[in-house]
Amino acid sequence: MARKTPQSFDSDHCPYCGQNILTGAMRCVSCGKMLKTPEEQKAAIDHVIASRKKFRIASVIRIMVFLIIIGVAYYFFAGQLSAVIKKLLGS
Ligand SMILES: [Zn+2]
Repeated sequence: MARKTPQSFDSDHCPYCGQNILTGAMRCVSCGKMLKTPEEQKAAIDHVIASRKKFRIASVIRIMVFLIIIGVAYYFFAGQLSAVIKKLLGS
């Protein structure tokens, strides 16, 4: 099936009405024609979702590493603290 859409997607002029449009815009604000095919729209949306997911995983890993460090630090600190208390109480 041949595509009716024009070749120059990345230009900043609407291929239908010639008005200025934002580069990468999905729809012309002047004439309302769709400037990207549904496949291209889906790819663009998937790209945004994938990058968001990637960011979320990275932040979760960062939080987990932070909690592990805090947990280990607390474990050692609590061990030292109980030793100090035992020493104080035991003497
Ligand atoms: Zn237009």
